[in-house]
Order: sequence, then C-alpha cells, then structure tokens
Amino acid sequence: MEPLVHLFLPVMLVLALYPRMEKRLVWGLCFLTVIPDLDVVVGHRSLLHNLLFVLLVAGGIWLAGRKTMGEERARIASYLALFYLGSHLLLDIGSPGVPLFYPFSDHLYGFNFYLLTTAVNGLGNGLGLRAQGSIINNPLQAATAMTDAPAVTTLGVVLVVLVLLLLVGRKLFKERRAPPKP
Ligand SMILES: [Zn+2]
Repeated sequence: MEPLVHLFLPVMLVLALYPRMEKRLVWGLCFLTVIPDLDVVVGHRSLLHNLLFVLLVAGGIWLAGRKTMGEERARIASYLALFYLGSHLLLDIGSPGVPLFYPFSDHLYGFNFYLLTTAVNGLGNGLGLRAQGSIINNPLQAATAMTDAPAVTTLGVVLVVLVLLLLVGRKLFKERRAPPKP
C-alpha cells in the first residue's frame, strides 16, 4: 500500500472517532503509520512488518512515556502506536502478504478478496455477482524479490482529496451552525 493511504486513513479515523484526543499525540506519532516501509531501505521487507515490532514499539513508548509524560498520556500514546503500526500491517495484508510472525516464521500471510459483478451475456440478461477470495501463504522471498512498490496511485490521490473535502466541508458547516458569540 502507498504511503499517502497509510498515513491519511488511520490519522483521519482517529480524528473522526476521537475528536478530543490530544492533537500533539495524534500528529506527533503519525510517522508510525509509514515507518514499517523503511525496511525497504535495508532490502529486507520483514524487519518492520511484523507483530513483534508493533508490540516492541508500543511497549517501548509505554515504558519510556510513563516516566516522561505521565501514566495516562503514555497509555494513550502506546494505544496510538499500536493502532498506527497495526493499521499499516492491515493495509498491506493483500498480495504478496505480510510476514506477521517474523522472525519466528519466514512466511507471508494475508488474504485477497474480490466481489465482481459480471454481465457475461450482456446487461439484458441481468447482472451476476461472483466472489473470489484466497488465503495467502507465501515464502518470504516473494516480498524481498519485489523491486517496485506503489508510491502514489490514482486511488490514493482520490481518497486523500475526498477526505480533505470532507474535513473542509465539516469545518464550514460547523462554522455556519455555530451560535453567534455574545
Ligand atoms: Zn508496508
């Protein structure tokens, strides 16, 4: 999955579902949504794409945060880290899969699912629905052999524009409805 989608989708979800959450934490930790893809730099697409890494980072933030930012904020920060990093693995779950249990298992896991509408004999004969799904279980090499990864795609740009339009629309709508100040 591309960086824009990895970043925008989880951050916007947090902002929409928990509007009162401290923005410094929401934005300050948002780099975690894209950090797993840094393992491309070392040519090893597994080091940062696994559950152990997610737990280590979230646990590390909780332990370090308790002393520096207080119990409550450290708890929120570690939940955010869990969600941001977990969302990355979830968004990557399609082909060729994610090495969820690395370094204990060097297999990629995931699934592919499509629901297709078919009009094989022309629309006049009605539309049919066809589901296609498969569980992925590939050797790790299937990911390390990948040389190209999407950086920006049409779907990503459209998603980001849609989310921005929604946010701007919500702000304008709110401002119009806000009661006049005394
Ligand atoms: Zn990734």
